[in-house]
Amino acid sequence: MLSIEHLSKRFGENEVLKDINFQVRPGDVTSIIGASGSGKSTLLRCINLLESATSGKILFHGQNILSDHVNEAKYRAKVGMVFQSFNLFNNHTVLSNCMVGQIKVLKKPKEEAYDAALLYLDKVGMTSHINAKPHQLSGGQKQRVAIARALAMQPEILLFDEPTSALDPEMVGEVLDVMKALAKEGTTMLVVTHEMAFARDVSNHVVYMYDGKIEEEGEPKNLFSRPKSPQLKEFLSRFT
Ligand code: ATP
Ligand code: MG
Repeated sequence: MLSIEHLSKRFGENEVLKDINFQVRPGDVTSIIGASGSGKSTLLRCINLLESATSGKILFHGQNILSDHVNEAKYRAKVGMVFQSFNLFNNHTVLSNCMVGQIKVLKKPKEEAYDAALLYLDKVGMTSHINAKPHQLSGGQKQRVAIARALAMQPEILLFDEPTSALDPEMVGEVLDVMKALAKEGTTMLVVTHEMAFARDVSNHVVYMYDGKIEEEGEPKNLFSRPKSPQLKEFLSRFT
């Protein structure tokens, strides 16, 4: 469904992604792990076109979305994104946060957008807060709303960039629980995370990035119990 081929990205002289190749199949939960500065966020941002790659291809259902004649808005609607810092619309209510994209981008009638918003807010356990503004919510609640908002767009794949790292420790679990439930339902997800338990237990594929490259990838049980790369061994040792 998504195939990254020879993707490179440089900021001036700094090559932060170097010949990245990997694939996402429908239903895959792929965790991207790696040290700070290894290029994880840049990779996600290239995939949803928040950054423009320097070279390479991003094939979505076989079509290279980096070629000129691709409808970017249409592609973006199929690729949901959840950020570390939530990025909710602060002057909108919870309900409205989950409706605006559906109305403006998907051109859905208001009633339909409302029904979908409620459905996904229910999924993340936030129906009792639909009229709240983001500043009235805890970090964990904000992130659950951000997930509902992304889901309401009915994307084919959901990208998460460290969705729990801005949260107080006691709120990490509620967000991970939502993500686990989504994974169980077969939602295709690409997750940058420092939560090694999530990467090991929930994802079916793990990509380890080191210095802008994919240093090692594979099934979590192999990658975590028998890492081959010395860098990955060292990286994992920090979590034990
Ligand atoms: P972290 O775990 O800290 O979030 P990361 O793996 O997500 O790190 P990136 O944010 O992708 O790392 O950054 C990779 C490299 O690219 C870093 O050296 C960073 O300084 C550089 N970089 C990222 N964004 C830009 C930018 N807009 N302009 C210039 N350099 C950038
Ligand atoms: Mg990052």
